[in-house]
Amino acid sequence: MNWTKLSNSILAFVLMLAFSGPASAAGDLVLDGDLVQGGLIIGSVPPGAEVRIGDRTLRVSDNGRFIVGFGRDAEAEIELNVTYPDGSKEARLLPVKARTYDIQRIDGVAKKYVSPPQEVLERIKKENAEIARVRAIDHPEPLFETGFVWPAIGRISGVYGSQRIFNGEPKRPHFGVDIAAPRGTPIAAPADGVVTLAEKDLYYSGGTVILDHGHGLTSAFLHMDAVSVEVGQEIKQGTEIGKLGSTGRSSGPHLDWRINWFDERIDPQLLVGPMPATN
Ligand SMILES: [Zn+2]
Repeated sequence: MNWTKLSNSILAFVLMLAFSGPASAAGDLVLDGDLVQGGLIIGSVPPGAEVRIGDRTLRVSDNGRFIVGFGRDAEAEIELNVTYPDGSKEARLLPVKARTYDIQRIDGVAKKYVSPPQEVLERIKKENAEIARVRAIDHPEPLFETGFVWPAIGRISGVYGSQRIFNGEPKRPHFGVDIAAPRGTPIAAPADGVVTLAEKDLYYSGGTVILDHGHGLTSAFLHMDAVSVEVGQEIKQGTEIGKLGSTGRSSGPHLDWRINWFDERIDPQLLVGPMPATN
């Protein structure tokens, strides 16, 4: 055997390893967004790659986009597994920053909890089932790529994650961002989306719209005074979807804007810039 020939084939083998192994795949995973509880990551991989968290396979769009959302109490580390089109694998540990939420402890007050009357329990159950159904849809289009803008301008009167503890008993946290503004203020789509729910009168949330931004990401708009869209409509960012109000169980005109990634609650405020001045 010719020595030059052998060293050439070793060189060829080394080059092959360098260009096909994980070393070439690393840099191909790009993550954008906040690695924090309530945050959303928009990721990018070469088209055809597979992305998993645990045994959950995430939808990857034709252009290689995928999203991961972290709930209010998400764990400190989440492992993302990517299998590239050439079969090479990459595991990336995502450190999820913990947040401090606004917790109010209120002790020594008389219990004023009013449970809904028996006759509306069935109605609430049906409404919740429909909301859960539309939030579970994994729409294939990455409509979220438009980015997000505020759906209404006003004073922020409630924030994500806040919670009240009455006499030591923790209540359900607040998951939306509340925007207080006059009744009738137009509400605009914060990003492109498809209407998956448009109801004038749900028990808790009154006039309610859910927009599907793709890949399990949805926006919900609560307590609306008027709903001007229908299920199935494709909505462009900035298009009016209805008016702000105080319908359902609400104590004054405001928009409660919520974002979900499937059943994980996302903080809408992390997706938009600061609230613009009202005038
Ligand atoms: Zn609210």
